[in-house]
Amino acid sequence: MNTLVINCGSSSVKYALFDANELVLHKGKRERLSSDEGKSHQDALNELFNELDSFDIHAIGHRVVHGGDAFRAPTPIDDTVISAIEQWSAAAPMHNPYALMAIRDTQKRFPSLPNVAVFDTAFHARMPRRASTYAIDHDVATRHNIRRFGFHGISHEYAAGVAANFLKRPLDTLRLVTLHLGNGASACAVEYGRSAETSMGNTPLEGLVMGTRSGDVDAGVLMGLLQSGEYDVTSLNKLLNHNSGLKGLSGISNDLRDIEQAAADGNDRAQMAINVFAHRARKYVGAYAAAMGGIDAIVFTGGIGENSASMRERILQRLEFLGVQLDLDRNRSSKIANDEEYAVISEPHSRVDVIVVKTNEERMIARETLRISAGEKIAEVPRIPIAVSARHCHLTKETFEALFGAGAEPTMDKPLLQPRQFACKERVNLIGPRNRIDNVRVLGPLRSVDQVEVARTDEFRLGVDAPVRDSGKVAGSAPITLEGPQGSVKLKEGLICARRHIHMQPEDARQFGVKDKDEVSVSVLGGERSLIFGDVLVRVKDSYLLEMHIDTDEANAAELGRGASGGLSIDDIDDDGGVKQLGEAAYHQREKST
Ligand code: AMP
Repeated sequence: MNTLVINCGSSSVKYALFDANELVLHKGKRERLSSDEGKSHQDALNELFNELDSFDIHAIGHRVVHGGDAFRAPTPIDDTVISAIEQWSAAAPMHNPYALMAIRDTQKRFPSLPNVAVFDTAFHARMPRRASTYAIDHDVATRHNIRRFGFHGISHEYAAGVAANFLKRPLDTLRLVTLHLGNGASACAVEYGRSAETSMGNTPLEGLVMGTRSGDVDAGVLMGLLQSGEYDVTSLNKLLNHNSGLKGLSGISNDLRDIEQAAADGNDRAQMAINVFAHRARKYVGAYAAAMGGIDAIVFTGGIGENSASMRERILQRLEFLGVQLDLDRNRSSKIANDEEYAVISEPHSRVDVIVVKTNEERMIARETLRISAGEKIAEVPRIPIAVSARHCHLTKETFEALFGAGAEPTMDKPLLQPRQFACKERVNLIGPRNRIDNVRVLGPLRSVDQVEVARTDEFRLGVDAPVRDSGKVAGSAPITLEGPQGSVKLKEGLICARRHIHMQPEDARQFGVKDKDEVSVSVLGGERSLIFGDVLVRVKDSYLLEMHIDTDEANAAELGRGASGGLSIDDIDDDGGVKQLGEAAYHQREKST
């Protein structure tokens, strides 16, 4: 399963082809693209596809900068997704149109391959309202969709994940501040795995000092500039997006390397640019630590975050009060080699770890694309109807007659889905050492072995310890006394808690890629209490109809009612060597997005 990732920037196209183990098979980039002169984005895409001609491609992931608040996760691309990306193009005119160009191009060239959009905004889409809301007239904000969207989400999420791996702690137990410092720069408060705050706002202009962007500016200044007549909207855009930040401050360059050199040579504006950059970043770290009530680690990524030891040192100055102890030597000597993901630059006993992570948006996009396209494959297989079995018993002729009288026959009340199976009018009482349960259904037809199936809660009511068993396997199970209108029977064994299972025909099994006696997981998603049932036994027979059986406790746990259904997730590698345990989450996303 090879995944092509296309990352279209405002003047660049980066691409990489990953195999299923996230190894890069091929990669490249085209820079300084322009729609007016020289090479265009379309030229770059044409070259890219020529270059990749000899490779197998199975899925394509596209970085999409702006998905607004509509997308909370990577999403398979269809017409609805395309029109949403189009709609957000006005808010991201330097990015979304190029992503669309690439999407349309790949759809034309590879009509049968799945295309997945991975959004920069998605990671932030569930930010708390208090963080995403600007304090302006609420009606105006609603009408114009003025809220904090946040960007660089793919990078922040990736960096947070790498940091959690290093710390050997689940991401959802950590409070991190991730600093993506490159030509574009943003900070993110990653609180227990989610973006709780981020410095880029409604557009990627807000927040930190960037290569050419100003970051935070008092809005009053902008009104003043407009009022002065010297600026209109176009020239203001140019000022703030292209001639500010490190470039505007230093008057030298947007590249920190040039500025650091000039500063070392005594250039005052270069020194000021560095100071303003570091101060702003430090201020955000402190603010986010306060917003989260503490931090476990600070994570640097992006061209500056990964490479400028002196900038990292400056930013971390004065943060000792938070428990940050930088190891100056490690910081200065840290170089992330090509094949390494991270370097740790804090003292071993520092309460807050400081980690440098090599950003890898393409890898993150490949990972998500593989997950989602695998999920799509699973989403195409049928849903499994779920039937809830209330406590019931299967009886032998001998036991039935002992309970209901010699010569008695079960009488059908209503048929069940599985052929020839029916619920009887007859009912029995279960007598346990602790308590009794009356009016338990008998199911027909009669069998060769007595078997009474109850839920865990029933066991406790009866006061017995029934093992979880496959139907029919009652040897050594719990004893129970049955009471009928004509007599009672003490079963030495036969009381079980039935193991959840799915009945299916060979054709279903083929479609699901499973066989008789396999164990699978079934997810019940989308309701109020989503649940994944593990250890579900597959039972295949020509006469079966597709149906999963669970007991009342299990149904209650997932709050399932009539007409419930589940999705299958295959625990083992499937026939074409593809997905492994990828189905659930991907399926969930798919369900949410459709
Ligand atoms: P990015 O946008 O993430 O590719 O970051 C690009 C920026 O990283 C460049 O414009 C430089 O300012 C900065 N950068 C890259 N390497 C270094 C370095 N060795 N020292 C200082 N800054 C660097």
